[in-house]
Amino acid sequence: MSTEQVVRTEGIGRGARLVDAVPTGLFVAGGWREASDGATIDVIDPATEATLTSVASASEADAVVAVGAAEASLGEWGRTAPRRRSEILRRAFDLMTERIDDLALLISMENGKALADSVAEVRYAAEFFRWYAEEAVRLSGSIQPAPSGDYRIVVEHQPVGVAVLVTPWNFPAAMATRKIGPALAAGCTVVLKPASDTPLTALALAGLLREAGVPDGVVNVLPAHRSGAVVRTLLDQPAVRKVSFTGSTEVGISVLHAAADRVLSSSMELGGNAPFLVLADADLDAAVAGAMAAKMRNGGEACTAANRFYVHESVADEFGARFAAAMAKLRVGPGYADGVDLGPLVNAAARTKVHQLVQDALARGARARTGGRAPEAAGYYFEPTVLDDVAGDAEILGQEIFGPVAPIVRFTHLDEAIESANATEFGLVSYIYTADLAEGMRTAEALQTGMVGLNRGVVSDPSAPFGGIKHSGLGREGGHDGMLEYTERKYIATSW
Ligand code: NAD
Repeated sequence: MSTEQVVRTEGIGRGARLVDAVPTGLFVAGGWREASDGATIDVIDPATEATLTSVASASEADAVVAVGAAEASLGEWGRTAPRRRSEILRRAFDLMTERIDDLALLISMENGKALADSVAEVRYAAEFFRWYAEEAVRLSGSIQPAPSGDYRIVVEHQPVGVAVLVTPWNFPAAMATRKIGPALAAGCTVVLKPASDTPLTALALAGLLREAGVPDGVVNVLPAHRSGAVVRTLLDQPAVRKVSFTGSTEVGISVLHAAADRVLSSSMELGGNAPFLVLADADLDAAVAGAMAAKMRNGGEACTAANRFYVHESVADEFGARFAAAMAKLRVGPGYADGVDLGPLVNAAARTKVHQLVQDALARGARARTGGRAPEAAGYYFEPTVLDDVAGDAEILGQEIFGPVAPIVRFTHLDEAIESANATEFGLVSYIYTADLAEGMRTAEALQTGMVGLNRGVVSDPSAPFGGIKHSGLGREGGHDGMLEYTERKYIATSW
């Protein structure tokens, strides 16, 4: 490996104790239970490929019971004073903040990401509880006179009902809190189905929410190995009125089909293929720092990860050299070890996919400025990689890489770069670096994405509406909009 392989430290011992402390049952109606059929899921350490522990894996029968628990608690939770719901969420924020080091280490154990990324995730995840603690008491409706003048149009927001939340493995804490926070603030009760690769973080959060004062049944957590069947059963329960899904576009489409059968309110946060444009006048120091953040936050395993770098030909050599130098400095090793910048990918399939995309790009004429290989040691590692002169038909430009690989394509005219950036079915986020703010704003408006980072490599913020267009999703999470996704508007026509 061109990067330093860091040996793991005592982090593993403390991590193992944390893993052992997490309850391994299904969390239903405020208590822990085995799966009805006794099934379990093994949780793997991606740094060593060893089994850390196993947790209960829900069956369809468990799904029915969990929705029953959420339904039973819905009326009382919906009537609970917003101020009280707010205080509970605020307490959850405080507990996450107090336990940031333990939660971060737990994430690194099961997900593989570097501790610094896990700490950043817990901080970000906790902020959803704080933001929605504040929003819970600010859900205002409206009153207006009807145009005829003979009655009033009163509009208020009501909780949509029991919500099914399905989350991915790449941000096991933040993707859960980004849904649980607004759902609870709005007065909904939930069943969370976390990803099978990372169930421990969700189970730890369940315990934390109980400690924060969330009543029994308001939050239920069901890891499930047979996710398709279990999610389908959850969505088929009459009490369920909402599904909020974060994951791949392919699975999201199948969940939307199931939701259509029951006309469920649906929010979808799906895949991305973010373009990162470096214009001729960009401040290259800022552009490289932004590229590192946009590419390497979470080791490249982020829906917002910059996936295609379109760089003006006049600065492409300089940008490519500086970016590659920054990537080559990253220290690769177990995420939970001190001094590591880049951990392993989440599983073997992820590493194989990244490797194949890199091989395809190289075969079509790209050159590796740094990296390009998957080390043969245990653990799902891939080297931090910068590929230059990537051909327009390379597969890597057409799909999510989800790994530490940055393909660079050179452009001459900005219009061509915008056209290439938009030539994808995805539309989550894009990034632009330029010194000319007016040009930057015009480009931002021309890019077909739900979010744009203009001279910024990170856009995620609990107080902003996060989401995509095209095949990247439906609806928004975060900000005030995020809570409205868990409400229905009720219109009351009243004469007085
Ligand atoms: P995934 O689609 O494989 O899984 C997501 C969730 O769906 C998991 O809980 C999984 O167990 C469950 N699932 C799997 N098959 C299912 C089925 N047939 N029916 C119902 N549920 C099923 O995605 P992943 O690999 O866990 O996560 C990576 C993907 O998530 C990437 O595409 C990434 O871009 C996307 N993502 C998007 C956002 C966003 O906000 N737009 C954020 C994070 C991740």
